[in-house]
Amino acid sequence: MKEYRDLVVHEGNQPLVDALEMSILSLLTGKPIHVHVEGLRGTGKTTVVRAMKSILPCIERIAGCSYNCEPTSPHCPVHRNLGPEDLSLLGTESVSIPFLEISHAAKLGTVVGSIDLAKVVDPNRPEVALLPGVIPRAYRGIIFVDEINRLADTSPELTDVLLDVMGTKPGRLQVEETGLPTFTLPVMCCVWAASNPDEEPGALEDIRRQLSDRFDFVINMGRPQNHDTVKRILSGSKTSYDSTWLQHGSSVPQKAGLLRKIFLPDELASLLAELYVSFGIESLRAVEAISLGARARAALNSRTNVLLDDIRGVLAITLRHRVDGATLINISKFLDEYESRRGGHRERDRQPENSGDDREDGQAASENSRALARSGDNVARPDSLWDRLMRGMGLIRPDPLRKPGLSQQRGVTSATGESARQRGHGRHYAAGGGTSIADPRDVDVCAPPGKAKSLFQLSGGDILFTEEDLRTR
Ligand SMILES: [Zn+2]
Repeated sequence: MKEYRDLVVHEGNQPLVDALEMSILSLLTGKPIHVHVEGLRGTGKTTVVRAMKSILPCIERIAGCSYNCEPTSPHCPVHRNLGPEDLSLLGTESVSIPFLEISHAAKLGTVVGSIDLAKVVDPNRPEVALLPGVIPRAYRGIIFVDEINRLADTSPELTDVLLDVMGTKPGRLQVEETGLPTFTLPVMCCVWAASNPDEEPGALEDIRRQLSDRFDFVINMGRPQNHDTVKRILSGSKTSYDSTWLQHGSSVPQKAGLLRKIFLPDELASLLAELYVSFGIESLRAVEAISLGARARAALNSRTNVLLDDIRGVLAITLRHRVDGATLINISKFLDEYESRRGGHRERDRQPENSGDDREDGQAASENSRALARSGDNVARPDSLWDRLMRGMGLIRPDPLRKPGLSQQRGVTSATGESARQRGHGRHYAAGGGTSIADPRDVDVCAPPGKAKSLFQLSGGDILFTEEDLRTR
């Protein structure tokens, strides 16, 4: 199995590597990011996923606890009712973050848990106990489901379990086994999955949309496009991969500590709320994923301030399975316009890295928020439905702020060079090819000459005409 340092990272798999790194950071802060990678056979999806095992840090747990109980806040049925003295007698141990797999042929008992037969037949102390399955044992760790589309197709009961596990953060797992009382366990783990939408039974989104929506990120795995990259893969030569993970000399737990301090600035939170409402995004999970993803991206780049570029960086992977392509493009244009309205240059994520790595809680984030607020007095001017409609039709509204010569006449000149205002049509939306549409809010409306009548109130002569009538009109 390849290790992380053996990966040949190229333009096709870089988004997956980045997403998994963000997911590991989020796991350490208790807010797991679930990642689904889609791609053709042979593109190396599972190789990248399994290679991440080699960079997983260690966690402390109560010694011998197969549920990975946190020493200070145990959750498992064995330890959750013990007092501090009893817990301290048990001691702790350091283990690497669990990485467990569920295949599409897995059984419910092995995934959730089943009666521990070894304990039942123990001649010295026979007892009925639960043998925890993959999910309870992956607490504070990672579960990898290869070919998740096939699992969703053939095992509806396992899919229901995953829906519960991934529905909330932390999720929940209900264990029901004959001979044991039913009990519920909290589940805090990242679910990583892979699938090939071009093979039977098709894309997960089409098989179980609910499960597809549970994934915070969906990554499209690409092929290497470069001749040299393919050569490097063939020769198995190690690459000097410029990973953000290894940059700046920060360790994984340090970056996770950074993520805990990062908050989304007020202004960017308003922007996400505007996206959610205006573009009719169905699932609230979408904006939650953008928010968490943007913060994780900032932490990965050793920053405490979240930039608009962080939101852009996770936009496609958080929305591609939740909205159609046209909406995604329009959202992207909306962000471009938002940025140009702010009047600022585009903030890049590789800005000076000393922007407050070791500052206290959110200080840098709030300063960033203030800086954004200062950057223009036309911040966050919300778009109207009409504006968005015009943009969706490709009729881009010229920005009068960028054309001071035209702004005085409040609008633009039409294709004929005549001032829009002079013609009483107010602001115009131009397609660039000479056609233009007036903003109805600026059109001078004349009152109709008489009160309007409904069709039923009209007499036959009002709506039926002979050809003779039409000629004389
Ligand atoms: Zn425990």
